[in-house]
Amino acid sequence: MTPLLSSLNRPQIISKLQNETFDLAIIGGGITGAGIALDAASRGMKVGLIDKNDFASGTSSRSTKLIHGGLRYLKQFEIALVREVGRERTIVHQLAPHLVTSEKMLLPITSDGTFGRFTTSIGLMVYDVLAGVERVDQRKMLSKEETLLIEPLLDHETVEGSGLYAEYRTDDARLTIETIKTAVGFGAICLNYIKAEDFLYDENGMVSGIKCFDVLSNLKFSINSKIVVSAAGPWVDKIRDINRSLDEKHLFLSKGVHIVVSHQRFPLNQPVYFDVSDGRMIFAIPRGKATYIGTTDTPYHGNLNHVLTNTEDCDYLIKATNSAFPSLKLNNEDVISSWAGLRPLIFEEGKSASEISRKDEIFESPNGLLSIAGGKLTGYRKMAEKIVNLVAGKLEQEYHIELKECYTDHIPFTGGPFLNAKEVSEYQAQIQIRVSELGLDNYYASYLVANYGKQTEAILEKYKDIDERDAEIRLGLSELWFGINHELVFNAKDFFMRRTGRLYFDIKSIEKLVDPVLNSLKTYLNWTNQKVVAEKESLEKLIYEAANFEYSKNVEND
Ligand SMILES: Cc1cc2nc3c(=O)[nH]c(=O)nc-3n(C[C@H](O)[C@H](O)[C@H](O)COP(=O)(O)OP(=O)(O)OC[C@H]3O[C@@H](n4cnc5c(N)ncnc54)[C@H](O)[C@@H]3O)c2cc1C
Repeated sequence: MTPLLSSLNRPQIISKLQNETFDLAIIGGGITGAGIALDAASRGMKVGLIDKNDFASGTSSRSTKLIHGGLRYLKQFEIALVREVGRERTIVHQLAPHLVTSEKMLLPITSDGTFGRFTTSIGLMVYDVLAGVERVDQRKMLSKEETLLIEPLLDHETVEGSGLYAEYRTDDARLTIETIKTAVGFGAICLNYIKAEDFLYDENGMVSGIKCFDVLSNLKFSINSKIVVSAAGPWVDKIRDINRSLDEKHLFLSKGVHIVVSHQRFPLNQPVYFDVSDGRMIFAIPRGKATYIGTTDTPYHGNLNHVLTNTEDCDYLIKATNSAFPSLKLNNEDVISSWAGLRPLIFEEGKSASEISRKDEIFESPNGLLSIAGGKLTGYRKMAEKIVNLVAGKLEQEYHIELKECYTDHIPFTGGPFLNAKEVSEYQAQIQIRVSELGLDNYYASYLVANYGKQTEAILEKYKDIDERDAEIRLGLSELWFGINHELVFNAKDFFMRRTGRLYFDIKSIEKLVDPVLNSLKTYLNWTNQKVVAEKESLEKLIYEAANFEYSKNVEND
């Protein structure tokens, strides 16, 4: 574990960003930027990365959280994309089998659905072949009876059977933070809450660094770098605008919403990918104490920094779910949390949000800024390889720097290594015994192993030193200690949203944890009482907004 991931060492990390000359500086700590940092640092480049907010606070904590082959893209005949992401998901699973877990997806065939039994069977077979799925995991076609046995909540009237096929589930924000941490292990200097405000240019007018603003101290400083890459997701055009290189090729932002209901209210046995009457398809996915449903796909022109679920989004998802699972009779009051994110797609004339390709693209400005957008969480490693190849070529040619080839397909994540899913289950069984000895519910064994992998050891070790009688609070405070010392946590949102996912999947636990967590943050980060009050208010607003919706208001205010 390195001191460069401790929030307590922020001044030292800033000083490194300020004083070194980097080979590559990256704007954006979502999965794309994180993947680039890891690829570049592991090849031997000196890498710096900044994010204006928390790592993964943009789209990379707001996805459907699937590492998937993109069955939807098969429908659009994007064969190469299906093949590439299909193969990538196997690699990412092997690198982090605790964080990217294999899960069967049920695709119901209904009398009024898009596909019949024959097309579903052929489609899933082609999908398996393209994605290179192992024989034991290949799709199975199920009869009506078999389908309803697995998932009795489906509509008995309309379901005629189903296809069961292989997908992988993850936590996008955890995947991003572990990628950042792995990159830091290779010498990258990464810091959140540092905004890129402008660029440095050399005497030839070429980009030679970034002018930065430290959001936490309000101080400005610069980063010098031979090459700068913007992986700013939905903000890519804003950065290109600052660089005066925004042209007719631009992004198209599409909003996607997920709503969360308690698992008790929607006791789904397993993930289901089902038809909506407008021709789209959505997911319902059980996860621990919750079931989440998504997503929508609508053009977005509002504030990029404050993307909210609105009543129309919620109504759409509730209506679609009730239609596929009619006995549920869900309503808006059942929604306990939600998240909304923006897909940074590349604009294509005359195409709707759902029709635009999810392919990634690199933009190179005349003054040397490289930008990358589009793509998928699933394809982040390949995206990184592609742009780092370009960067490596420039560094080799212009600066005669010798670099290794990409080998990120062999770099296990922090939290591992685990040989395979079997080893993860064995480890989880051990953790289960230990958490129950501590008086904690079994749920925490799977939660800890999925979130932290073998880093669970450090958390359970810290648990012994925490002076607190309530086991759940004690665990939460051990996790917070870990977040502060090893994951650059700077506030309660970082902790509750992106390091632990509690805001989405265990929102009730926050009630109990909020004051102890804020008090500990106050001690760790030397906060004033005023700061604690402001943080509490801001967290309460976030919790309120996650489950209380208004009709859409799109106000440009970035
Ligand atoms: C609803 C939805 C569902 C999805 N589901 C899936 C799925 O299940 N599987 C899948 O594979 N893909 C999925 N995707 C796609 C996937 O989530 C995205 O492709 C991916 O997260 C994009 O990551 P990114 O790093 O490019 O962007 P982001 O995660 O948005 O990262 C960009 C970062 O840049 C930072 N930044 C911006 N401006 C500045 C600045 N001036 N200075 C410093 N930093 C800055 C931001 O703070 C942000 O953290 C989904 C997307 C959406 C919206």
